[in-house]
Amino acid sequence: MSSLLNAYTSVAGEDVINHLLQLSKPLAGKKVLHVNSTREGGGVAEILHKLVPLMADLGLDVSWEVITGQPDFYKCTKSFHNALQGHRITVGTGLLEVYEKTNRENAERFEDVLREADFVFIHDPQPAALIDSIPNRKGKWIWRCHIDCSRPYRPIWKYLRDYCARYDASIFSLPDFAQRLSHPQYIIAPSIDPLSEKNISLPAGEVNEVFSEFGLDPDLPLLVQVSRFDRFKDPLGVIEAFMQVRRHVPCQLVLAGGGASDDPEGQAVLEEVLTAASGEPDVHVLVLPPDAHRKINALQRAADIVIQKSTREGFGLTVSEAMWKARPVVGGDTGGIRIQVIDHYTGFRVRTPEGAALRIRYLLHHKDKRLEMGKRARRLVRENFLLTRHLREYMALMISLMNGSQDRIDISTS
Ligand code: UDP
Repeated sequence: MSSLLNAYTSVAGEDVINHLLQLSKPLAGKKVLHVNSTREGGGVAEILHKLVPLMADLGLDVSWEVITGQPDFYKCTKSFHNALQGHRITVGTGLLEVYEKTNRENAERFEDVLREADFVFIHDPQPAALIDSIPNRKGKWIWRCHIDCSRPYRPIWKYLRDYCARYDASIFSLPDFAQRLSHPQYIIAPSIDPLSEKNISLPAGEVNEVFSEFGLDPDLPLLVQVSRFDRFKDPLGVIEAFMQVRRHVPCQLVLAGGGASDDPEGQAVLEEVLTAASGEPDVHVLVLPPDAHRKINALQRAADIVIQKSTREGFGLTVSEAMWKARPVVGGDTGGIRIQVIDHYTGFRVRTPEGAALRIRYLLHHKDKRLEMGKRARRLVRENFLLTRHLREYMALMISLMNGSQDRIDISTS
């Protein structure tokens, strides 16, 4: 067994790893390609950085390609993202043409691997139209949607559905997000890597360093939200909740984030956040580089409470990350946060700044509850949201697509 797999044994248990090894046998040497639109920033890149090496360790011939485009392409795909998450947005034909052309150009760039792969995982809408340029493809194509599309804006979904419907299968993170499509749909929740720099345990000294490094007060309770600067993450709502809490309990807030190269709205949202935070010495807006994984890890561990007050959320890796560190989470009552934050058990789900403030105040006053919820939160992540479970489900899906409509597949003899 490789040293990487060995390392996972200590966190996930021997049975889990043996199961992965067994599932990997029929997939040995299969060409698997993942395609998304950014190498850094956001949850998809975060997952692929970890999933791809682990698949390779299990003997799959796996690669990862990133499509690129001009600013208008990202403008268009950000509108798709916002529309799938429910905003009524019109995208002009000019931008749609840029989307289609960019996909055609990218398909030409890595046409051979797209055509030859046994399994192609296309992540989110940005590269969804690649399928149009590869008519005689060899493998199974899977559209993997990471977005909360429980209530998509229909005109945009209708446009994208024409592409998605051509795939052999699709994956959504929650049953609520599944759409009317004629191919098999799988529900697979995302995951975090317990061995990554973002999630490994850190020496107390390194955690405490964040106080001096970012000008925080080690004697004041710390609230942290880590997120791209995106309106769906509701950073302004977090500041509003913080102001309400602070009228009653002294505390400080960190909003830590960075950009993703496929997200053109980040700068404008950051400016709104800086304006809302100006003149507030206890609100710390930190713009971190994309590789600041250990810093984010330390901030999440330094926090008394982690907040993720999203108004739409495909999954919310930041929630799992905080829970893995045994922190209670006050999270928006939406999308993937609902399967992680079990209300009153691993944290609290909220809808408004007032609701968030109320729950934060409660937790700040009850250290015993914070610790109790944090312990349960870690257990929930261990059992449901680690990379090993995610990989097991991807491999099971590939085996099932390979075997078509057979209702029983014997993998022990493969
Ligand atoms: N993240 C990061 N730096 C940042 C902001 C976010 O490394 O400045 C990471 C965060 O820790 C998490 C991922 O990016 O692993 C965000 O995933 P999530 O599912 O929470 O949200 P998304 O950005 O995909 O909507």
